[in-house]
Amino acid sequence: MRPQALFPLFVPVTALPGVGPRLAPLWERLAGPMVVDLLWHRPSGVVDRRFSPKIAEAPAGRVATLTVQVDAHMPSSGPKRPYRVRCVDETGFLHLVFFHGREDWLRRQLPEGEWRVVSGTVEHFNNEIQITHPDHMVPVEEKDAVMAVEPVYPLTAGLTVRQVTKVVRAALDRAPELPEWQDPAWLAREGWPGWRTALHTLHHPEAEREVLEDGPVRRRLAYDELLANQLALAMVRAHMRRLKGRVLRGDGALRAKVMAALPFSLTGAQSRALAEIDADMAEPMRMLRLLQGDVGSGKTVVALLAMLSAVECGAQAALMAPTEILARQHMATIQPLAGAAGLRVALLTGRDKGKARAAILEGLEDGSVHLVVGTHALFQEEVAFRDLGLAVIDEQHRFGVHQRLELAAKGGAVDVLVMTATPIPRTLLLTAYGDMDASRLDEKPPGRRPIDTRIVPLGRMEDVVGAVGRAVAAGNRVYWVCPLVEESETSDLAAAEERHRHLSEVFGERVGLVHGRMKGPAKDAVMAEFAAGTRDILVATTVIEVGVDVPEATVMVIEHAERFGLAQLHQLRGRVGRGDKPSSCLLLYDQPLTETAKARLETMRATEDGFRIAEEDLRLRGGGEVLGTRQSGLPEFRLADLTLHGELLAAARDDAQLMLRRDPELKSPRGEALRVLLYLFERDAAVRTLRSG
Ligand code: ADP
Ligand code: MG
Repeated sequence: MRPQALFPLFVPVTALPGVGPRLAPLWERLAGPMVVDLLWHRPSGVVDRRFSPKIAEAPAGRVATLTVQVDAHMPSSGPKRPYRVRCVDETGFLHLVFFHGREDWLRRQLPEGEWRVVSGTVEHFNNEIQITHPDHMVPVEEKDAVMAVEPVYPLTAGLTVRQVTKVVRAALDRAPELPEWQDPAWLAREGWPGWRTALHTLHHPEAEREVLEDGPVRRRLAYDELLANQLALAMVRAHMRRLKGRVLRGDGALRAKVMAALPFSLTGAQSRALAEIDADMAEPMRMLRLLQGDVGSGKTVVALLAMLSAVECGAQAALMAPTEILARQHMATIQPLAGAAGLRVALLTGRDKGKARAAILEGLEDGSVHLVVGTHALFQEEVAFRDLGLAVIDEQHRFGVHQRLELAAKGGAVDVLVMTATPIPRTLLLTAYGDMDASRLDEKPPGRRPIDTRIVPLGRMEDVVGAVGRAVAAGNRVYWVCPLVEESETSDLAAAEERHRHLSEVFGERVGLVHGRMKGPAKDAVMAEFAAGTRDILVATTVIEVGVDVPEATVMVIEHAERFGLAQLHQLRGRVGRGDKPSSCLLLYDQPLTETAKARLETMRATEDGFRIAEEDLRLRGGGEVLGTRQSGLPEFRLADLTLHGELLAAARDDAQLMLRRDPELKSPRGEALRVLLYLFERDAAVRTLRSG
């Protein structure tokens, strides 16, 4: 249960004054659905309103707070003319200027003859002094509140700075005094304030540097967040370790048969990874290992060989993919090979219903199905295994600590192998997986041809269409990926449909379209047509996994490549270059490109090494943006920035491990406080590991 002290923070933002249900979606887009999310909404700068000159001395371009008497209202004299209010002091006059100003409201705010404090950016216009849309207009008694250093918050359309400031402060007022979860000696050494003080200073900065620079306030809060992250991961890991494992050491009989059926021998990296996995499985502890490797580096084969060991020991093995399409693709690889060894393999997805499904469930329960490939449907409650020994989770580029926990609950003592195709820089690896054991497939299977990558302005569309025509005429197939547009799936779709129409005009029936709004069977049908070659150009939104292995596909066109994360571009590009023909990738971009965008696309052109691309992406863009975090599901930090706080992350890892060694149940006073920290950062799943197992 969440500690009671945190209750006021874990309520919808609508609990705050000034936030009605109508505006709730805007607040959710800005910061998040809960009051606690507003605490983490960092100012992006400050405005200093302490400068308070007389009208005649107010310099253009500066923010100033002036005390003036309202002289006369001059309503707008035409549609494009602003509403103006003339104000005076003993040195002169100035105009307050309002476009689309509403007279009744303005007359109430600024009654003629009264004194008001107004604050905003001073402009000199036609030899007159004016302020357009003042940020503040208050009675003189409220002058002190206005003449201050004011935080400036990132906004979203529909919310004003003033609203955001007010509501964030209301959230801040609800922040309780909490027990200190940081080690006092460490706090003292770093000179960091307490949590509540730090938070208060963050939202009431006295100077620009307090919010912008990496000072004690920011670092304290970043460290809290990183510690919660690292502690949660370490707890999940410790939990898995405490659970009894089993010794899975195969006799190699099935493996030998499958190896004989493989048309190739393993790469050095595959053999090394397999040896590491074998060693883990042979230990009487639970395996929790990450298998990292680029698309096409041969993870599936490694996973299959590991699964065979489990079957050799009389257990079952499961492979879970993030999407239906990928599950089917794994099935297509695994089935013939496992078949060669006389094994029964089943596919289980959410789409299987009725008798077929019942038969598979029965096979899993009585053990006649040795290997099962599927989607998340595999881990639903009604699925029971006779004896699940190994679970492989292909996370592709999604990450779910939850799924790993769910798995731990399935089966007696399941070893877990997590596969990811996202090359993750070491620092980020730590945030997503803690210090989980990792094997890297950093060597491509032999015979792969380099992909010719070109960076092309969108203006050269004609040439690109021409190149696509030539490729298709030569019997090749082409992927055409349309970009992510803002946050809206609808406009994604519109862009893809538009491109589909355009290409269909040129190439007719041969162009297919697949997008995230399509139902599974319809999607699969189009993919199947593309795989079979009845269609040879496939227009796709990125909402779908362009995950099917089509060796004939040799051209990848990506529109608005500048909008993608590098890792995503890398993944998409990996869809071509799988056959023996030369392949190419055309990255279409919209001009003008920023320097960073240019450097990023250049990285794509220069290398196909996913790990190098990932490191470069981190360097060029900084933490939050990296890998297109939002799509990848890597933990997003609100307060920490890994390009700034890499060394704090390492410290948090050590701190978390030390803490769990000393107080594995988190029962000491600091342990209790750390539980609160975990809840504060919504790592509830980790806290639950303390009670189970
Ligand atoms: P990943 O799952 O990492 O994307 P796959 O396991 O699907 O990669 O392998 C990609 C392709 O490479 C498959 O067609 C597979 O048969 C082939 N492959 C895997 N390992 C080797 C190898 N050692 N030598 C040659 N081809 C390989
Ligand atoms: Mg694969």
